[in-house]
Amino acid sequence: MVNNVCVLGATGMVGQRFIQLLSQIPDFNIVNIAASERSAGKRYEDAVNWHQTTPIPEEVRDMKIVNTDPNEVADDVDFVFASLPAGLAEPVEAAFAEKFIVASNASVNRMKENIPLVIPEVNPEHLEMMELQKDINGWDGCIVTNPNCSTIALTLTLKPLFDKYNFKRVGVTTMQAVSGAGYNGVPSMGILDNVIPYIGSEEEKMQSETLHLLGERDGGVVQKANFPLSASCNRVGVIDGHTESVSIEFEDDDVTVEDIQETLSEFRGLPQEENLSFAPEQPVIVRKEEDRPQPRMDRDAGHGMSVSVGRIRPDVFDNSFKYTLVGHNTIRGAAGASILNAQLISKLYL
Ligand code: NAP
Repeated sequence: MVNNVCVLGATGMVGQRFIQLLSQIPDFNIVNIAASERSAGKRYEDAVNWHQTTPIPEEVRDMKIVNTDPNEVADDVDFVFASLPAGLAEPVEAAFAEKFIVASNASVNRMKENIPLVIPEVNPEHLEMMELQKDINGWDGCIVTNPNCSTIALTLTLKPLFDKYNFKRVGVTTMQAVSGAGYNGVPSMGILDNVIPYIGSEEEKMQSETLHLLGERDGGVVQKANFPLSASCNRVGVIDGHTESVSIEFEDDDVTVEDIQETLSEFRGLPQEENLSFAPEQPVIVRKEEDRPQPRMDRDAGHGMSVSVGRIRPDVFDNSFKYTLVGHNTIRGAAGASILNAQLISKLYL
C-alpha cells in the first residue's frame, strides 16, 4: 500500500531527514511540504539550506512549499510527519489531527493521556490509544508521538533486558551530537574544542519517557515502569550520532555479560515480525571490539535504525554492568522513528 504524506517543518534538520528518507521508501509518496511563512510559496530547493550528504530528491526539488495550515494540504494525505519547533507543535498538531494522522517529533504531546508515545519494537500496543483519542476529540485523525532522540536509543537496549530481568536502578550519561539541537541550535564557537554539560529538559525527558515506554497501558493512561533512572546529558562536537554510557544494577544475582550480549543480539520486535521495509534486521547490534561503538563508525548501522552496543562489562558494584551505545539521533532518534511508526500503523490499522 502506498501512503500519501505531508512533511511539516520540511526545511529543518529533522524535516530534511524526512524528505531524504521518505523519498527512498517506495511505500510513501510526498504530496505536500510545509514550513514557516518565510518559506511558503518558494520552491523547496530555493527555501532549504540543505545539509544532507545526498542531493535533494528530484521529486521535491521543484515542489512548492505550502503554509503550515491543514487547509493547504491534500485531503487524501494519510500521514502528516511533523518536525515543528516545540512552541508551535501543540496547537498546530491538534489542528492537523482533526483530519490526518500526525506522526510527531515534538515533546509537548508525548506524555499526554490518550496520545501514544511509541517505539514500534518496544510498546506497539500503546497505538491502541489512537481510536480513543479520535473518539474523545471527535477527530478523523490523531497524534502519535515518538520519544526524544536519546531516549529512543537507550530504551531499545533496555527493553529486552527489562523483559527478562529485574532492574534495581539504571544510570545513563549521554554525549549528544549537535544536529540534535537543530541547524541554528549550537553555535560553532560554543561547541568546538568543548563539551557542554547541559541540554535543557533533556535529563527530565529521558527519565520520564523511558519509564513511560516500558510502562503498562491502561486505556488512555500509562502506568510507568517502576525503577529509578538517572540521566546526565552533555552536548559534544559530533555532527550526528548520540553516544550513551549506561550502567544497570539488577535485582537478579545471576546475570552475566554473555546473557546481556545474547539478549540484546536476539531482540526482535513487531516491525521485524511484520517485515516492515524500514525496520532494521536487528534493532540492537552488539559489537565485541574494545573500542566500539563510535558515532562516526556506527551511527549508520541498519541504515541508521539500529543501535550499536559495546563494552558490555561488569561494574564494580554487585549485580551491576556497564555498556556504551550509539544511535543515529536524526534517523532512529527522529525522522526514522516517525516513519517506522507510520509503517506499522499503515500495516496494522489502515
Ligand atoms: P529546525 O532545524 O530549527 O527546523 C524547524 C522547522 O520548523 C523549519 O522547517 C522551519 O521552517 C519550521 N518553522 C519554524 N517556524 C515556523 C512557523 N512559525 N510555522 C511553521 N513552520 C515553522 O528544528 P529541528 O531540529 O528539525 O527540530 C524540529 C522538532 O523536532 C523540534 O521540536 C525538536 O525538538 C524535535 N526533535 C529534533 C531532533 C533532532 O535530532 N534534531 C530529534 C528529536 C526531536 P523555515 O525554514 O521556513 O523557518
